[in-house]
Amino acid sequence: MYMEQDEFEEIRDGVRQLCKQFSDEYFREIDAKEAYPERFVDALIEAGWLAAMIPEEYGGTGLGLTAASVIMEEINRCGGNAGAVHGQMYNMGTLLRSGSTAQKEKYLPQIAAGKLRIQSMAVTEPTTGTDTTKIKTTAVKKDGRWVVNGQKVWISRVQHSDLMILLARTTPLSEVRKKSEGMSIFMVDLRDAIGNGLDVRPIPNLVNHETNELFFDNLEIPEENLIGEEGKGFKYILEGLNAERTLIAAECIGDGYWFIDRACSYANERVVFDRPIGQNQGVQFPIADAFIEIEAANLMRFDAARRFDARQACGAQANMAKYLAAKASWEAANVCLQTYGGFGFAKEYDIERKFRETRLYQVAPISTNLIYSYVAEHVLGLPRSF
Ligand SMILES: Cc1cc2nc3c(=O)[nH]c(=O)nc-3n(C[C@H](O)[C@H](O)[C@H](O)COP(=O)(O)OP(=O)(O)OC[C@H]3O[C@@H](n4cnc5c(N)ncnc54)[C@H](O)[C@@H]3O)c2cc1C
Repeated sequence: MYMEQDEFEEIRDGVRQLCKQFSDEYFREIDAKEAYPERFVDALIEAGWLAAMIPEEYGGTGLGLTAASVIMEEINRCGGNAGAVHGQMYNMGTLLRSGSTAQKEKYLPQIAAGKLRIQSMAVTEPTTGTDTTKIKTTAVKKDGRWVVNGQKVWISRVQHSDLMILLARTTPLSEVRKKSEGMSIFMVDLRDAIGNGLDVRPIPNLVNHETNELFFDNLEIPEENLIGEEGKGFKYILEGLNAERTLIAAECIGDGYWFIDRACSYANERVVFDRPIGQNQGVQFPIADAFIEIEAANLMRFDAARRFDARQACGAQANMAKYLAAKASWEAANVCLQTYGGFGFAKEYDIERKFRETRLYQVAPISTNLIYSYVAEHVLGLPRSF
């Protein structure tokens, strides 16, 4: 197994030791049952890994995004899927950056202690898609409460979270100066909301990613659950997205190494025409090619993470890291499947599962075209296309 040493060996080793308790069979079974990996998530929480980014004063370990990204990478590199838990890392960041002292004191120690989960963030809507400023879900202040109406789609981990960050319009689009104004973010306590104005309907999908349609029908939220200033929610969400993209880039890197490890092992073992298939350049070159792409994407991921931790501008790097890593992991997945030949299709080798899982990241949380558009406009100064 290819394994370069870096300054995160202690974290890597800790996560690997934990992951060893969860075999390939465990993740395969969870996938087959379309279940949530409860036992695995509990173990991660108990070991404190999901509190990595919570400051020590609130009971966490106060590590930065770079270290957090290593945790996510290792989960995927061990054959798991950090998609079950990554929400906690970046949603907590939104609360940390934009929440009031009272909100931080109320939630963060409980999240750090594993008593509360903040795994969900609700932005996407069925009729607006990527055009977020056109969201139709509204929150209106009434008798000291916010009343929410509307619909969201593809909202993940709702049934395995206690808290959810919700983006809703608080001033109609027609009344704002800039379309990105007039939206706000709220903390929704899912334990109170579900069945009391919030209806949750699961969406069966290609990957075992617990994701749902949400219907808000006069859901009431306490006034104090507004996070940050009213009308600035879009800005707060965007700030959190750089962390999300960097963490997902790290997961793709983990997937990529996993695919390369599996491809190399199989190419060394499988004998056809009286020699290991890996002896053929037609088999080994595509594996080498995919590996090179992962190594290159990994540099951009660390650049993005370190800039984020140093509080430097990192929008371009976070987007480019996510783009490069998602592309590299997908290439590695494809090469691995090809190396395995027919056996790659058999569920017992886990290639097809990881193949499906890593494909998601070219679409979510932001699609490849939207990254091109970000780089074209914000980095290269080309005209805005939409
Ligand atoms: C498994 C899963 C989990 C998810 N979890 C969450 C979650 O927890 N919370 C949440 O809020 N959302 C979540 N999402 C939603 C995800 O962020 C969106 O699917 C994604 O941002 C793309 O939006 P869309 O599906 O509406 O695509 P659309 O916006 O409808 O776009 C469709 C295609 O058209 C392309 N396109 C659109 N406009 C342009 C343009 N102007 N130029 C070029 N190309 C364009 C896009 O790149 C895309 O390929 C999840 C999605 C999935 C599949």
